[in-house]
Amino acid sequence: MKILQGINVSDGVAINKLVFFRSKDIDIKKELSSDSEKELERFEDARKQLKNWLLVYGKQVCDLEMSAVEEMAYTQEFARAVQPVQDEDAEAIIQAYGRLLEDMEYISAIHYAIRNEGVVAEYAVWETSRKIAAMFEEMADAGIRESGKDILALSRHLIEILRDEKEVAEEETEGILTAQELSPAETIHLDFTKIDAFVTENGSVNSHSAILARKLGVPAVTGIPMKELVEYRERNATVIVDGFCGLLIIEPTKEKIAEYEEMKQRIEEHALELEKYKERKNETLDGTQIQLYANIESLKDMDAVLEYDADGVGLFRTEYLYMEGETYPSEEIQFQAYKAAAQALRGRKLIIRTMDIGADKQVAYMDLGEEENPAMGLRGIRVSLREKEIFKVQLRAILRASLYGEIGVMFPMITSMEEVCEIKQILAGLKKEMDAEAIAYKEPAVGVMIETPAAAMIADELAEEVDFISIGTNDLAQYVLATDRQNTKVCKYYNPKHKAVLRMISYVVEQGSKHNCPVSICGELARDTKMTEELLRMGVKSLSVATSAILPVRERICNIRLS
Ligand code: PEP
Ligand code: MG
Repeated sequence: MKILQGINVSDGVAINKLVFFRSKDIDIKKELSSDSEKELERFEDARKQLKNWLLVYGKQVCDLEMSAVEEMAYTQEFARAVQPVQDEDAEAIIQAYGRLLEDMEYISAIHYAIRNEGVVAEYAVWETSRKIAAMFEEMADAGIRESGKDILALSRHLIEILRDEKEVAEEETEGILTAQELSPAETIHLDFTKIDAFVTENGSVNSHSAILARKLGVPAVTGIPMKELVEYRERNATVIVDGFCGLLIIEPTKEKIAEYEEMKQRIEEHALELEKYKERKNETLDGTQIQLYANIESLKDMDAVLEYDADGVGLFRTEYLYMEGETYPSEEIQFQAYKAAAQALRGRKLIIRTMDIGADKQVAYMDLGEEENPAMGLRGIRVSLREKEIFKVQLRAILRASLYGEIGVMFPMITSMEEVCEIKQILAGLKKEMDAEAIAYKEPAVGVMIETPAAAMIADELAEEVDFISIGTNDLAQYVLATDRQNTKVCKYYNPKHKAVLRMISYVVEQGSKHNCPVSICGELARDTKMTEELLRMGVKSLSVATSAILPVRERICNIRLS
Protein backbone atom coordinates (compact mmCIF):
# COMPACT_ATOMS: atom_id res chain seq x y z
CA MET A 1 0.00 0.00 0.00
CA LYS A 2 1.27 3.47 -0.89
CA ILE A 3 -0.37 6.74 0.11
CA LEU A 4 0.10 9.92 -1.92
CA GLN A 5 -0.95 13.20 -0.35
CA GLY A 6 -2.53 15.64 -2.76
CA ILE A 7 -4.96 18.51 -2.37
CA ASN A 8 -8.62 17.86 -1.69
CA VAL A 9 -10.77 19.36 -4.40
CA SER A 10 -14.10 17.58 -4.21
CA ASP A 11 -15.40 15.50 -1.29
CA GLY A 12 -16.27 11.84 -1.60
CA VAL A 13 -14.69 8.43 -1.86
CA ALA A 14 -14.07 6.20 -4.87
CA ILE A 15 -12.47 2.78 -5.14
CA ASN A 16 -11.51 1.59 -8.61
CA LYS A 17 -8.72 1.25 -11.21
CA LEU A 18 -6.84 4.14 -12.81
CA VAL A 19 -7.45 5.30 -16.34
CA PHE A 20 -5.47 7.98 -18.11
CA PHE A 21 -7.08 10.82 -19.96
CA ARG A 22 -5.86 11.73 -23.39
CA SER A 23 -5.69 15.49 -23.28
CA LYS A 24 -6.42 17.41 -26.43
CA ASP A 25 -3.93 20.04 -25.33
CA ILE A 26 -0.40 18.94 -25.40
CA ASP A 27 2.18 20.44 -23.10
CA ILE A 28 5.66 20.21 -24.53
CA LYS A 29 8.43 21.96 -22.68
CA LYS A 30 11.65 22.90 -24.43
CA GLU A 31 14.25 20.26 -23.61
CA LEU A 32 17.76 20.00 -24.98
CA SER A 33 19.60 16.82 -25.83
CA SER A 34 23.33 16.27 -26.04
CA ASP A 35 22.80 13.45 -28.52
CA SER A 36 21.20 14.82 -31.68
CA GLU A 37 21.84 11.61 -33.60
CA LYS A 38 19.82 9.65 -31.07
CA GLU A 39 16.98 12.20 -31.28
CA LEU A 40 17.00 11.96 -35.08
CA GLU A 41 16.77 8.21 -34.78
CA ARG A 42 13.89 8.47 -32.29
CA PHE A 43 12.03 10.78 -34.63
CA GLU A 44 12.62 8.56 -37.66
CA ASP A 45 11.50 5.53 -35.69
CA ALA A 46 8.29 7.27 -34.58
CA ARG A 47 7.63 8.38 -38.15
CA LYS A 48 8.04 4.80 -39.37
CA GLN A 49 5.79 3.41 -36.67
CA LEU A 50 3.07 5.91 -37.45
CA LYS A 51 3.38 5.22 -41.19
CA ASN A 52 3.01 1.52 -40.57
CA TRP A 53 0.06 2.06 -38.36
CA LEU A 54 -1.60 4.26 -40.98
CA LEU A 55 -1.20 1.52 -43.55
CA VAL A 56 -2.79 -1.06 -41.31
CA TYR A 57 -5.53 1.25 -40.14
CA GLY A 58 -6.12 2.30 -43.74
CA LYS A 59 -6.57 -1.33 -44.73
CA GLN A 60 -8.99 -1.88 -41.90
CA VAL A 61 -11.25 1.07 -42.55
CA CYS A 62 -10.99 1.71 -46.27
CA ASP A 63 -9.11 -1.19 -47.79
CA LEU A 64 -5.89 0.62 -48.57
CA GLU A 65 -3.04 -1.62 -49.71
CA MET A 66 -0.12 -2.67 -47.52
CA SER A 67 2.63 -5.18 -47.59
CA ALA A 68 2.86 -8.24 -45.36
CA VAL A 69 6.01 -6.90 -43.69
CA GLU A 70 4.31 -3.65 -42.78
CA GLU A 71 1.39 -5.60 -41.43
CA MET A 72 3.68 -7.06 -38.77
CA ALA A 73 4.35 -3.61 -37.37
CA TYR A 74 0.75 -3.27 -36.41
CA THR A 75 -0.08 -3.48 -32.74
CA GLN A 76 -3.26 -3.03 -30.80
CA GLU A 77 -1.62 -0.21 -28.89
CA PHE A 78 -1.21 1.84 -32.00
CA ALA A 79 -4.83 1.37 -32.76
CA ARG A 80 -5.63 2.92 -29.42
CA ALA A 81 -3.01 5.64 -29.69
CA VAL A 82 -4.60 7.20 -32.72
CA GLN A 83 -7.96 8.81 -32.29
CA PRO A 84 -10.70 7.02 -34.17
CA VAL A 85 -11.95 8.77 -37.28
CA GLN A 86 -15.28 8.61 -39.03
CA ASP A 87 -15.12 5.89 -41.67
CA GLU A 88 -16.24 8.17 -44.47
CA ASP A 89 -13.47 10.62 -43.63
CA ALA A 90 -10.89 7.99 -42.92
CA GLU A 91 -9.45 7.62 -46.37
CA ALA A 92 -8.93 11.36 -46.81
CA ILE A 93 -7.37 11.74 -43.38
CA ILE A 94 -5.11 8.73 -43.74
CA GLN A 95 -3.95 9.95 -47.11
CA ALA A 96 -3.36 13.46 -45.78
CA TYR A 97 -1.36 12.08 -42.84
CA GLY A 98 0.53 9.73 -45.15
CA ARG A 99 1.51 12.62 -47.43
CA LEU A 100 2.63 14.71 -44.48
CA LEU A 101 4.77 11.91 -43.11
CA GLU A 102 6.59 11.91 -46.45
CA ASP A 103 6.67 15.68 -46.86
CA MET A 104 10.32 16.60 -47.21
CA GLU A 105 9.88 20.18 -46.07
CA TYR A 106 8.14 19.08 -42.90
CA ILE A 107 10.70 16.37 -42.19
CA SER A 108 13.68 18.61 -42.95
CA ALA A 109 12.37 21.33 -40.67
CA ILE A 110 12.17 18.82 -37.81
CA HIS A 111 15.63 17.46 -38.61
CA TYR A 112 16.94 21.02 -38.66
CA ALA A 113 15.51 21.79 -35.20
CA ILE A 114 17.00 18.60 -33.73
CA ARG A 115 20.43 19.14 -35.29
CA ASN A 116 20.87 22.89 -35.14
CA GLU A 117 18.89 23.83 -32.03
CA GLY A 118 19.84 20.69 -30.11
CA VAL A 119 16.28 20.04 -28.94
CA VAL A 120 14.67 16.67 -28.19
CA ALA A 121 12.54 15.07 -30.90
CA GLU A 122 9.20 15.78 -29.15
CA TYR A 123 9.93 19.50 -28.99
CA ALA A 124 11.21 19.61 -32.57
CA VAL A 125 8.01 17.93 -33.82
CA TRP A 126 5.72 20.15 -31.77
CA GLU A 127 7.42 23.47 -32.45
CA THR A 128 7.80 22.80 -36.17
CA SER A 129 4.17 21.72 -36.48
CA ARG A 130 2.92 24.65 -34.43
CA LYS A 131 4.81 27.15 -36.58
CA ILE A 132 3.57 25.63 -39.83
CA ALA A 133 -0.02 25.46 -38.52
CA ALA A 134 0.14 29.10 -37.37
CA MET A 135 1.36 30.11 -40.82
CA PHE A 136 -1.43 28.15 -42.51
CA GLU A 137 -3.96 29.67 -40.13
CA GLU A 138 -3.28 33.07 -41.73
CA MET A 139 -4.12 31.80 -45.25
CA ALA A 140 -7.36 32.68 -46.96
CA ASP A 141 -7.75 29.19 -48.44
CA ALA A 142 -9.90 27.01 -46.13
CA GLY A 143 -8.19 23.84 -47.43
CA ILE A 144 -4.76 25.13 -46.39
CA ARG A 145 -6.09 26.14 -42.99
CA GLU A 146 -7.42 22.60 -42.60
CA SER A 147 -4.00 21.13 -43.40
CA GLY A 148 -2.66 23.19 -40.51
CA LYS A 149 -4.99 21.25 -38.22
CA ASP A 150 -3.87 17.96 -39.83
CA ILE A 151 -0.27 18.83 -39.08
CA LEU A 152 -1.07 19.46 -35.43
CA ALA A 153 -3.07 16.24 -35.15
CA LEU A 154 -0.32 14.27 -36.81
CA SER A 155 2.31 15.78 -34.53
CA ARG A 156 0.26 14.75 -31.50
CA HIS A 157 0.33 11.15 -32.68
CA LEU A 158 4.06 11.33 -33.27
CA ILE A 159 4.60 12.75 -29.80
CA GLU A 160 2.45 10.04 -28.23
CA ILE A 161 4.67 7.46 -29.88
CA LEU A 162 7.84 9.29 -28.86
CA ARG A 163 6.62 9.54 -25.28
CA ASP A 164 5.39 5.97 -25.36
CA GLU A 165 2.03 7.16 -24.08
CA LYS A 166 -0.80 4.71 -24.15
CA GLU A 167 -3.45 6.99 -22.88
CA VAL A 168 -6.93 5.82 -23.55
CA ALA A 169 -9.27 7.86 -25.64
CA GLU A 170 -12.02 9.76 -23.84
CA GLU A 171 -14.76 7.41 -24.88
CA GLU A 172 -12.92 4.46 -23.34
CA THR A 173 -12.37 5.98 -19.92
CA GLU A 174 -13.99 4.10 -17.10
CA GLY A 175 -12.85 4.23 -13.49
CA ILE A 176 -10.69 6.86 -11.80
CA LEU A 177 -9.68 9.41 -14.36
CA THR A 178 -6.12 10.67 -14.06
CA ALA A 179 -4.72 13.54 -16.07
CA GLN A 180 -1.96 16.07 -16.00
CA GLU A 181 -4.63 18.72 -16.10
CA LEU A 182 -8.28 18.95 -17.09
CA SER A 183 -9.59 22.08 -18.70
CA PRO A 184 -13.27 23.00 -18.27
CA ALA A 185 -13.75 22.45 -22.01
CA GLU A 186 -12.41 18.89 -21.64
CA THR A 187 -14.35 18.21 -18.47
CA ILE A 188 -17.74 18.98 -20.01
CA HIS A 189 -17.12 16.48 -22.77
CA LEU A 190 -16.49 13.56 -20.42
CA ASP A 191 -18.98 10.78 -19.86
CA PHE A 192 -19.65 10.98 -16.14
CA THR A 193 -21.53 7.72 -15.99
CA LYS A 194 -18.12 6.06 -16.37
CA ILE A 195 -16.01 8.25 -14.11
CA ASP A 196 -15.79 7.58 -10.37
CA ALA A 197 -13.25 10.28 -9.49
CA PHE A 198 -10.65 12.68 -10.88
CA VAL A 199 -6.99 12.75 -9.98
CA THR A 200 -4.86 15.45 -11.57
CA GLU A 201 -1.34 16.76 -11.25
CA ASN A 202 -2.17 20.41 -11.89
CA GLY A 203 -5.26 22.17 -10.73
CA SER A 204 -6.56 23.77 -7.60
CA VAL A 205 -9.54 23.92 -5.31
CA ASN A 206 -11.39 26.61 -7.18
CA SER A 207 -10.30 25.98 -10.73
CA HIS A 208 -13.31 25.65 -12.99
CA SER A 209 -12.80 21.92 -13.44
CA ALA A 210 -12.81 21.51 -9.67
CA ILE A 211 -16.10 23.40 -9.51
CA LEU A 212 -17.52 21.03 -12.12
CA ALA A 213 -16.31 17.99 -10.16
CA ARG A 214 -18.07 19.24 -7.03
CA LYS A 215 -21.24 20.02 -8.93
CA LEU A 216 -21.29 16.49 -10.24
CA GLY A 217 -20.52 15.08 -6.81
CA VAL A 218 -17.42 13.37 -8.22
CA PRO A 219 -14.56 13.04 -5.68
CA ALA A 220 -11.42 14.80 -6.86
CA VAL A 221 -7.84 15.24 -5.75
CA THR A 222 -5.15 17.34 -7.37
CA GLY A 223 -1.39 17.77 -6.92
CA ILE A 224 -0.58 14.09 -7.61
CA PRO A 225 2.45 13.62 -9.93
CA MET A 226 1.33 11.59 -12.92
CA LYS A 227 4.67 9.86 -13.32
CA GLU A 228 4.14 8.17 -9.97
CA LEU A 229 1.03 6.49 -11.32
CA VAL A 230 2.25 4.96 -14.57
CA GLU A 231 3.37 1.62 -13.15
CA TYR A 232 0.18 1.22 -11.13
CA ARG A 233 -2.00 1.88 -14.11
CA GLU A 234 -0.05 -0.72 -16.02
CA ARG A 235 -0.49 -3.18 -13.16
CA ASN A 236 -4.20 -2.39 -13.18
CA ALA A 237 -3.87 -1.60 -9.48
CA THR A 238 -6.84 -0.77 -7.30
CA VAL A 239 -6.74 2.69 -5.73
CA ILE A 240 -8.84 4.67 -3.30
CA VAL A 241 -9.50 8.35 -3.85
CA ASP A 242 -10.24 10.13 -0.61
CA GLY A 243 -11.62 13.48 -1.77
CA PHE A 244 -12.07 14.68 1.83
CA CYS A 245 -8.40 14.48 2.76
CA GLY A 246 -6.90 14.75 -0.72
CA LEU A 247 -5.40 11.26 -0.58
CA LEU A 248 -4.69 8.71 -3.24
CA ILE A 249 -4.22 5.30 -1.66
CA ILE A 250 -2.59 2.87 -4.05
CA GLU A 251 -2.99 -0.89 -3.69
CA PRO A 252 -4.81 -0.55 -0.37
CA THR A 253 -4.88 -3.39 2.14
CA LYS A 254 -8.10 -5.30 2.67
CA GLU A 255 -8.61 -3.43 5.95
CA LYS A 256 -8.23 -0.05 4.21
CA ILE A 257 -10.74 -1.02 1.56
CA ALA A 258 -13.18 -2.11 4.27
CA GLU A 259 -12.67 1.18 6.12
CA TYR A 260 -13.43 3.20 2.99
CA GLU A 261 -16.36 1.00 1.99
CA GLU A 262 -17.83 1.84 5.38
CA MET A 263 -17.18 5.54 4.80
CA LYS A 264 -18.95 5.32 1.43
CA GLN A 265 -21.87 3.71 3.19
CA ARG A 266 -22.04 6.59 5.69
CA ILE A 267 -21.92 9.15 2.87
CA GLU A 268 -24.82 7.38 1.19
CA GLU A 269 -26.77 7.37 4.44
CA HIS A 270 -26.23 11.12 4.90
CA ALA A 271 -27.37 11.69 1.31
CA LEU A 272 -30.56 9.84 2.19
CA GLU A 273 -31.05 11.96 5.32
CA LEU A 274 -30.63 15.09 3.23
CA GLU A 275 -33.57 14.01 1.08
CA LYS A 276 -35.97 15.28 3.71
CA TYR A 277 -34.62 18.81 3.15
CA LYS A 278 -36.05 18.79 -0.35
CA GLU A 279 -39.36 19.78 1.14
CA ARG A 280 -38.05 22.34 3.59
CA LYS A 281 -38.00 26.15 3.39
CA ASN A 282 -34.67 27.97 3.54
CA GLU A 283 -35.43 29.37 6.95
CA THR A 284 -33.30 29.69 10.06
CA LEU A 285 -34.55 28.52 13.47
CA ASP A 286 -35.57 32.10 14.29
CA GLY A 287 -37.54 32.47 11.06
CA THR A 288 -35.11 34.43 8.84
CA GLN A 289 -35.83 33.63 5.19
CA ILE A 290 -32.82 33.01 2.98
CA GLN A 291 -32.86 32.78 -0.81
CA LEU A 292 -31.01 29.69 -2.00
CA TYR A 293 -30.29 29.68 -5.72
CA ALA A 294 -28.44 27.26 -7.99
CA ASN A 295 -25.35 27.73 -10.12
CA ILE A 296 -25.68 25.99 -13.46
CA GLU A 297 -23.45 25.41 -16.46
CA SER A 298 -26.02 24.00 -18.86
CA LEU A 299 -29.67 23.10 -19.28
CA LYS A 300 -28.80 19.59 -18.15
CA ASP A 301 -28.57 20.98 -14.61
CA MET A 302 -32.19 22.17 -14.60
CA ASP A 303 -33.61 18.84 -13.40
CA ALA A 304 -31.53 19.05 -10.24
CA VAL A 305 -32.49 22.72 -9.73
CA LEU A 306 -36.15 21.72 -9.70
CA GLU A 307 -35.67 18.48 -7.79
CA TYR A 308 -33.91 20.30 -4.92
CA ASP A 309 -36.39 23.14 -5.09
CA ALA A 310 -33.90 25.98 -5.48
CA ASP A 311 -35.36 29.50 -5.48
CA GLY A 312 -34.11 29.88 -9.03
CA VAL A 313 -30.79 30.09 -10.82
CA GLY A 314 -28.40 32.65 -9.33
CA LEU A 315 -25.64 32.03 -11.86
CA PHE A 316 -25.93 30.54 -15.34
CA ARG A 317 -22.34 30.25 -16.54
CA THR A 318 -23.12 30.75 -20.22
CA GLU A 319 -19.50 30.41 -21.38
CA TYR A 320 -20.08 26.65 -21.37
CA LEU A 321 -22.52 27.12 -24.27
CA TYR A 322 -19.56 28.55 -26.17
CA MET A 323 -17.27 25.68 -25.17
CA GLU A 324 -19.64 22.94 -26.28
CA GLY A 325 -19.57 23.62 -29.99
CA GLU A 326 -17.13 24.17 -32.81
CA THR A 327 -18.24 27.74 -33.33
CA TYR A 328 -20.15 30.56 -31.64
CA PRO A 329 -23.66 29.63 -30.56
CA SER A 330 -26.07 31.63 -32.73
CA GLU A 331 -28.61 34.08 -31.34
CA GLU A 332 -31.33 31.51 -31.99
CA ILE A 333 -29.53 28.69 -30.16
CA GLN A 334 -28.87 30.94 -27.19
CA PHE A 335 -32.39 32.29 -27.21
CA GLN A 336 -33.77 28.74 -27.15
CA ALA A 337 -31.47 27.77 -24.27
CA TYR A 338 -32.32 30.80 -22.13
CA LYS A 339 -36.02 30.55 -22.94
CA ALA A 340 -36.08 26.85 -22.00
CA ALA A 341 -34.34 27.60 -18.69
CA ALA A 342 -36.71 30.48 -17.93
CA GLN A 343 -39.77 28.40 -18.75
CA ALA A 344 -38.59 25.45 -16.67
CA LEU A 345 -38.24 27.78 -13.68
CA ARG A 346 -41.88 28.91 -13.94
CA GLY A 347 -41.48 32.42 -12.59
CA ARG A 348 -38.44 31.77 -10.39
CA LYS A 349 -35.42 33.95 -11.05
CA LEU A 350 -32.89 33.14 -13.75
CA ILE A 351 -29.66 35.14 -13.58
CA ILE A 352 -27.79 34.77 -16.84
CA ARG A 353 -24.14 35.70 -16.65
CA THR A 354 -22.75 36.82 -19.98
CA MET A 355 -19.86 34.79 -21.36
CA ASP A 356 -16.93 34.73 -18.95
CA ILE A 357 -14.40 33.59 -21.52
CA GLY A 358 -10.64 33.82 -21.04
CA ALA A 359 -7.99 32.59 -18.59
CA ASP A 360 -8.67 28.86 -18.08
CA LYS A 361 -12.03 29.03 -19.85
CA GLN A 362 -10.70 29.14 -23.37
CA VAL A 363 -12.88 28.61 -26.38
CA ALA A 364 -10.80 26.95 -29.08
CA TYR A 365 -12.30 28.84 -32.03
CA MET A 366 -12.00 32.24 -30.34
CA ASP A 367 -8.33 33.00 -30.59
CA LEU A 368 -7.51 35.43 -27.80
CA GLY A 369 -3.77 35.00 -28.33
CA GLU A 370 -1.19 34.06 -25.76
CA GLU A 371 -0.92 36.12 -22.59
CA GLU A 372 1.72 36.24 -19.87
CA ASN A 373 -0.90 36.58 -17.14
CA PRO A 374 -4.21 35.29 -18.50
CA ALA A 375 -6.14 35.74 -15.24
CA MET A 376 -5.16 39.42 -15.31
CA GLY A 377 -5.70 39.67 -19.02
CA LEU A 378 -8.52 39.35 -21.50
CA ARG A 379 -11.32 37.81 -19.49
CA GLY A 380 -15.03 38.17 -18.87
CA ILE A 381 -16.44 41.59 -19.68
CA ARG A 382 -13.13 42.65 -21.26
CA VAL A 383 -13.58 40.00 -23.95
CA SER A 384 -17.21 41.03 -24.44
CA LEU A 385 -16.38 44.70 -24.80
CA ARG A 386 -13.62 43.86 -27.25
CA GLU A 387 -15.72 41.46 -29.32
CA LYS A 388 -18.83 43.61 -29.33
CA GLU A 389 -20.61 41.87 -32.20
CA ILE A 390 -20.42 38.54 -30.39
CA PHE A 391 -21.50 40.19 -27.15
CA LYS A 392 -24.51 41.77 -28.87
CA VAL A 393 -25.66 38.39 -30.20
CA GLN A 394 -25.77 37.11 -26.63
CA LEU A 395 -27.52 40.20 -25.29
CA ARG A 396 -30.18 40.04 -28.01
CA ALA A 397 -30.87 36.41 -27.11
CA ILE A 398 -31.18 37.36 -23.42
CA LEU A 399 -33.50 40.31 -24.17
CA ARG A 400 -35.75 38.07 -26.26
CA ALA A 401 -35.78 35.26 -23.69
CA SER A 402 -36.71 37.72 -20.95
CA LEU A 403 -40.28 37.58 -22.21
CA TYR A 404 -40.48 34.04 -20.83
CA GLY A 405 -39.53 34.49 -17.21
CA GLU A 406 -37.88 36.49 -14.44
CA ILE A 407 -34.54 37.03 -16.10
CA GLY A 408 -31.61 39.06 -14.88
CA VAL A 409 -28.44 39.63 -16.88
CA MET A 410 -25.18 39.79 -14.99
CA PHE A 411 -21.71 40.88 -16.10
CA PRO A 412 -18.47 39.22 -14.96
CA MET A 413 -15.10 40.73 -14.05
CA ILE A 414 -16.26 44.31 -13.65
CA THR A 415 -13.64 46.78 -12.45
CA SER A 416 -15.15 50.21 -13.15
CA MET A 417 -18.28 52.29 -13.52
CA GLU A 418 -17.18 53.11 -17.07
CA GLU A 419 -17.66 49.47 -18.02
CA VAL A 420 -21.17 49.49 -16.58
CA CYS A 421 -21.98 52.66 -18.54
CA GLU A 422 -20.64 51.15 -21.74
CA ILE A 423 -22.72 48.00 -21.22
CA LYS A 424 -25.81 50.08 -20.59
CA GLN A 425 -25.19 52.03 -23.80
CA ILE A 426 -24.87 48.79 -25.75
CA LEU A 427 -28.11 47.54 -24.22
CA ALA A 428 -29.89 50.79 -25.10
CA GLY A 429 -28.61 50.59 -28.68
CA LEU A 430 -29.79 47.00 -29.00
CA LYS A 431 -33.24 47.86 -27.72
CA LYS A 432 -33.52 50.59 -30.38
CA GLU A 433 -32.40 48.14 -33.06
CA MET A 434 -34.89 45.53 -31.92
CA ASP A 435 -37.71 48.08 -31.77
CA ALA A 436 -36.91 49.08 -35.35
CA GLU A 437 -36.94 45.40 -36.39
CA ALA A 438 -40.20 44.86 -34.44
CA ILE A 439 -38.57 42.07 -32.40
CA ALA A 440 -40.31 41.40 -29.11
CA TYR A 441 -38.25 41.57 -25.92
CA LYS A 442 -38.40 42.53 -22.27
CA GLU A 443 -35.80 44.42 -20.30
CA PRO A 444 -34.04 42.10 -17.89
CA ALA A 445 -32.83 43.26 -14.49
CA VAL A 446 -29.19 44.32 -14.81
CA GLY A 447 -26.59 43.14 -12.31
CA VAL A 448 -22.85 42.93 -11.88
CA MET A 449 -20.53 40.43 -10.30
CA ILE A 450 -18.12 41.62 -7.68
CA GLU A 451 -15.03 39.58 -8.38
CA THR A 452 -12.31 42.19 -8.25
CA PRO A 453 -11.13 44.32 -5.35
CA ALA A 454 -11.83 47.37 -7.55
CA ALA A 455 -15.49 46.42 -7.89
CA ALA A 456 -15.76 45.69 -4.17
CA MET A 457 -14.33 49.10 -3.30
CA ILE A 458 -16.84 50.91 -5.53
CA ALA A 459 -19.75 48.73 -4.39
CA ASP A 460 -21.57 51.88 -3.21
CA GLU A 461 -21.59 53.37 -6.72
CA LEU A 462 -22.32 50.06 -8.39
CA ALA A 463 -25.22 49.43 -6.02
CA GLU A 464 -26.73 52.75 -7.11
CA GLU A 465 -26.36 51.92 -10.77
CA VAL A 466 -27.52 48.30 -11.02
CA ASP A 467 -30.50 46.20 -9.96
CA PHE A 468 -28.54 43.50 -8.16
CA ILE A 469 -25.04 42.37 -7.21
CA SER A 470 -23.55 38.92 -6.91
CA ILE A 471 -20.22 38.32 -5.21
CA GLY A 472 -17.96 35.87 -7.01
CA THR A 473 -15.70 34.84 -4.16
CA ASN A 474 -13.61 32.49 -6.32
CA ASP A 475 -12.15 35.32 -8.32
CA LEU A 476 -12.40 37.87 -5.55
CA ALA A 477 -10.12 35.68 -3.40
CA GLN A 478 -7.74 35.22 -6.34
CA TYR A 479 -7.37 38.95 -6.92
CA VAL A 480 -7.41 40.05 -3.27
CA LEU A 481 -4.76 37.52 -2.33
CA ALA A 482 -2.70 37.83 -5.54
CA THR A 483 -2.98 34.05 -5.89
CA ASP A 484 -3.74 32.35 -9.18
CA ARG A 485 -6.73 30.13 -8.43
CA GLN A 486 -5.43 27.61 -11.00
CA ASN A 487 -1.91 27.27 -9.69
CA THR A 488 -1.21 24.19 -7.57
CA LYS A 489 2.07 25.68 -6.37
CA VAL A 490 0.44 28.59 -4.57
CA CYS A 491 -2.72 26.88 -3.40
CA LYS A 492 -1.78 27.29 0.26
CA TYR A 493 -2.18 31.05 -0.26
CA TYR A 494 -5.58 30.70 -1.85
CA ASN A 495 -8.00 31.16 1.01
CA PRO A 496 -11.46 32.58 0.33
CA LYS A 497 -11.96 32.70 4.12
CA HIS A 498 -9.05 35.14 4.52
CA LYS A 499 -10.00 38.11 6.68
CA ALA A 500 -9.34 40.47 3.77
CA VAL A 501 -11.85 38.64 1.56
CA LEU A 502 -14.45 38.43 4.32
CA ARG A 503 -14.10 42.13 5.08
CA MET A 504 -14.70 42.94 1.44
CA ILE A 505 -17.77 40.74 1.36
CA SER A 506 -19.06 42.44 4.48
CA TYR A 507 -18.47 45.88 2.94
CA VAL A 508 -20.33 44.94 -0.25
CA VAL A 509 -23.26 43.51 1.73
CA GLU A 510 -23.41 46.69 3.79
CA GLN A 511 -23.38 48.91 0.69
CA GLY A 512 -26.03 46.76 -0.97
CA SER A 513 -28.34 47.18 1.98
CA LYS A 514 -27.62 50.93 2.23
CA HIS A 515 -28.42 51.47 -1.44
CA ASN A 516 -31.30 49.06 -1.57
CA CYS A 517 -29.59 46.72 -3.99
CA PRO A 518 -29.90 42.96 -3.32
CA VAL A 519 -26.58 41.18 -2.85
CA SER A 520 -26.01 37.48 -3.31
CA ILE A 521 -22.92 35.27 -3.07
CA CYS A 522 -22.37 32.84 -5.92
CA GLY A 523 -18.72 31.83 -5.42
CA GLU A 524 -17.75 28.52 -3.85
CA LEU A 525 -17.63 30.08 -0.40
CA ALA A 526 -21.43 30.04 -0.47
CA ARG A 527 -21.45 26.22 -0.46
CA ASP A 528 -19.12 25.94 2.52
CA THR A 529 -21.49 24.99 5.32
CA LYS A 530 -18.86 25.93 7.90
CA MET A 531 -19.23 29.52 6.67
CA THR A 532 -23.02 29.73 6.37
CA GLU A 533 -23.61 31.16 9.84
CA GLU A 534 -20.89 33.80 9.52
CA LEU A 535 -22.23 34.92 6.15
CA LEU A 536 -25.80 35.12 7.42
CA ARG A 537 -24.60 37.12 10.43
CA MET A 538 -22.98 39.58 8.02
CA GLY A 539 -26.43 40.17 6.60
CA VAL A 540 -26.22 37.92 3.55
CA LYS A 541 -29.74 36.87 2.59
CA SER A 542 -29.07 35.13 -0.68
CA LEU A 543 -26.67 32.34 -1.66
CA SER A 544 -26.18 30.59 -4.98
CA VAL A 545 -24.51 27.18 -4.99
CA ALA A 546 -23.92 24.19 -7.24
CA THR A 547 -26.93 21.89 -7.33
CA SER A 548 -25.05 19.23 -5.34
CA ALA A 549 -24.72 21.72 -2.46
CA ILE A 550 -28.34 22.87 -2.26
CA LEU A 551 -29.48 20.29 0.28
CA PRO A 552 -26.39 20.46 2.52
CA VAL A 553 -26.60 24.28 2.63
CA ARG A 554 -30.34 24.17 3.27
CA GLU A 555 -29.77 21.67 6.10
CA ARG A 556 -27.28 24.09 7.62
CA ILE A 557 -29.57 27.14 7.25
CA CYS A 558 -32.41 25.27 8.94
CA ASN A 559 -30.18 24.58 11.95
CA ILE A 560 -28.87 28.11 12.55
CA ARG A 561 -30.31 30.46 15.15
CA LEU A 562 -29.40 34.07 14.42
CA SER A 563 -31.15 35.65 17.39
C1 PEP B 1 -16.55 33.46 -8.93
O1 PEP B 1 -15.55 33.97 -9.41
O2 PEP B 1 -16.74 33.30 -7.70
C2 PEP B 1 -17.61 32.95 -9.82
C3 PEP B 1 -18.76 32.52 -9.35
O3 PEP B 1 -17.33 32.90 -11.15
P1 PEP B 1 -16.47 31.72 -11.80
O4 PEP B 1 -16.17 30.71 -10.73
O5 PEP B 1 -17.26 31.15 -12.91
O6 PEP B 1 -15.26 32.43 -12.25
MG1 MG C 1 -15.48 34.40 -11.50
